[in-house]
Amino acid sequence: MSAVTSDLDLDALNHRLESATPEAILGWTWEQFAPDVILTCSFQHDGVVLAHMLRTIAPEVPVVFVNTGFHFPETLAYRDLLVERFGLRLVELEPIMPRAEFAERHGLDLYARNPDLCCHINKVEPLKRFLPGVRAWINGRRRDQAFTRTAIRVVEAYQGGLYKVNPLASWTTRDTFYYLERNGIPTHPLFERGYASIGCAPCTRPVLPGENERDGRWAGQDKVECGMHTFLDSK
Ligand code: SF4
Repeated sequence: MSAVTSDLDLDALNHRLESATPEAILGWTWEQFAPDVILTCSFQHDGVVLAHMLRTIAPEVPVVFVNTGFHFPETLAYRDLLVERFGLRLVELEPIMPRAEFAERHGLDLYARNPDLCCHINKVEPLKRFLPGVRAWINGRRRDQAFTRTAIRVVEAYQGGLYKVNPLASWTTRDTFYYLERNGIPTHPLFERGYASIGCAPCTRPVLPGENERDGRWAGQDKVECGMHTFLDSK
């Protein structure tokens, strides 16, 4: 049974946690919400940092990977390497529509014509269906990743009693990189090839000089977020 109550004072809590380390934030999350805690991780560096920290803080926390079927083979290999090395409790979510049906109804190039619908079927809806019962959803978003993320708080409350926890909200990409280096954790194989943010293969390209971290995602399209972090209604 979770120790948290519905009258959690978010302003005071965020004031306190803003200067806390990610490890302390993870510890607080587990203490308050155990066992109804998950980490979502697409095996980008930020999620990897949190998965590594949780190994010692709360190894029971499932690491939820939404397998769209469009990931780079390098991402899947990196995932497998780290799952084994860290001993992660991986939970893999599948798209809501079998691949054959998806191809017949929408075409495998839906990402080029309607990426919002493609993300909805392959990412958002599988996660949405997994969330009931979860009280705390830990994720690796940082404020400096995109203009859509500059205002995220360490703890955010949503309808239905769900809390999203962003332990790396105040970190920079450099902090993440240093953590990997300090702990001897390999980087994603595509990182060396200029991919600063890595999602599905058809919708990700390396970033160009002067571009922001997520500019290689859905490049040339009016889309910045896949929708996994925008479908919930704030409390
Ligand atoms: S990122 Fe691209 S391929 Fe992946 S689900 Fe979204 S639109 Fe489809």
